[in-house]
Amino acid sequence: MTHKDGLDTSQQKVKDECGVIAVHAPEAGKLAVLGLHALQHRGQESAGVATFDGAVHLHKAMGLVESVFACDPSLPGSWAIGHNRYSTTGSSTAVNAGPFEVASRFGPLVLAHNGNILNAPILRGWLADSFNLTLHSDSDSEVLALLLSVAPGDSWIERLQWMADRVIGSYSLVLLAGDRLIGVRDPMGNRPLAMGRIAEGWVLASESCAFSLLGGIPVRDVQPGEVVEIGQDGPIPGGWLTPARHAFCAFEHIYIARPDTLFAGRAVHAVRRAIGEELGREHPAPADLVIGVPDSGTSAALGFSTSTGIPFGEGLIKNRYVGRTFIQPAQAERERLIRMKFGALPLKGKRIALVDDSIVRGNTLRPIVALVREAGASEVHVRVASPPLTDPCYLGVDMARKDELIANRMGEDELAAHTTADSLRHISVDGLLRAIRGTRDDTCLACFTGRYPPAVQAALPARAEAEEMEMAR
Ligand code: SF4
Repeated sequence: MTHKDGLDTSQQKVKDECGVIAVHAPEAGKLAVLGLHALQHRGQESAGVATFDGAVHLHKAMGLVESVFACDPSLPGSWAIGHNRYSTTGSSTAVNAGPFEVASRFGPLVLAHNGNILNAPILRGWLADSFNLTLHSDSDSEVLALLLSVAPGDSWIERLQWMADRVIGSYSLVLLAGDRLIGVRDPMGNRPLAMGRIAEGWVLASESCAFSLLGGIPVRDVQPGEVVEIGQDGPIPGGWLTPARHAFCAFEHIYIARPDTLFAGRAVHAVRRAIGEELGREHPAPADLVIGVPDSGTSAALGFSTSTGIPFGEGLIKNRYVGRTFIQPAQAERERLIRMKFGALPLKGKRIALVDDSIVRGNTLRPIVALVREAGASEVHVRVASPPLTDPCYLGVDMARKDELIANRMGEDELAAHTTADSLRHISVDGLLRAIRGTRDDTCLACFTGRYPPAVQAALPARAEAEEMEMAR
């Protein structure tokens, strides 16, 4: 992806993973491209769409949806899947762009994946050794597609269960299997997937925000472990994978998803407001004005204002035309980039509560606080709408290494001093859970708690060993 802010990686908070879409309707390819525009925030490295009209037509390339599809490729057919990619596994190269097409004994199969498969390197070797398959990329999505291509079973649920029995990690998938679309959400339900209705057809997408762009409406979330099939006449119950403890990503609520997306019927904007309200109750600030770090901090700032009674106002203005770069700038360059990204309105003599969605490495907050002070603020109290980030994500969100996460090096008061804020406080895990209406038994909170979902926790020692071997090679 790029990250929503579109800045260089060192500016980024976290990087999203991928967005997927599947459409059955006339001119499905065009609709899938449109839908990918709405999911651009989930992945900005590459984009691709595959359609089926008796044969598969696939167009994919590096870049944003707008540039990848500027050439208006011919994508005929009423069946389509699409993918926006940010690489959490595999390098950022064209060969890793999705969707992935493979040959199988039941015809051509095309797959788009959002998530991260921890044991992909092991499965890659197994597929090569046991099935004599050649892998063309280092993407875990290709591993999933090839697993399905060799999976035994007469039905999709049998093949998907066979795949699910072998993979460890997170996956929301859409498959194009001839004149049939299949949507799958892993048994943890770690990544979202929703079903929508459009005028002449059906859509599956990572986020429901894609439906309105297609003139459609959300129907429901695909449930954890659920397989849905869309055939000629619409959705067909596909079956269920073996259940596991649910672990929906809390960071989807905090940062990743678009505010107009619905999870369980509730808009992400409303959830973020609720997070801000909890934050205000837990850590009110002696301030005259609440401002958010746009865009991702704005909804929480509104909620903070509601629960504290401190007026909300605009303070930081975002320049939407700052492009993306992958360079890793020095601190001076980073501060210049922040000034390219944000401007500040006059805040003379005001005590500011500055609400941000999260702090990862801590190197962007200091220049933002400086900007607010230069605008005349007499005090800056930072309030953070996520608990301290202490652990990396292995489920598809590229956050940072553990040693890079600033919360492992500094407490809140130290971080306040480091960023020249007058105070700095995070929401608690319990406050977050109240706001998102989640529990420790149905939500992944691992980047705040270090407690990964059971299957992931069990796989971490083997993963660490594989990484060490890789580094030693
Ligand atoms: S570790 Fe954090 S970012 Fe990763 S899935 Fe869990 S809550 Fe989401």
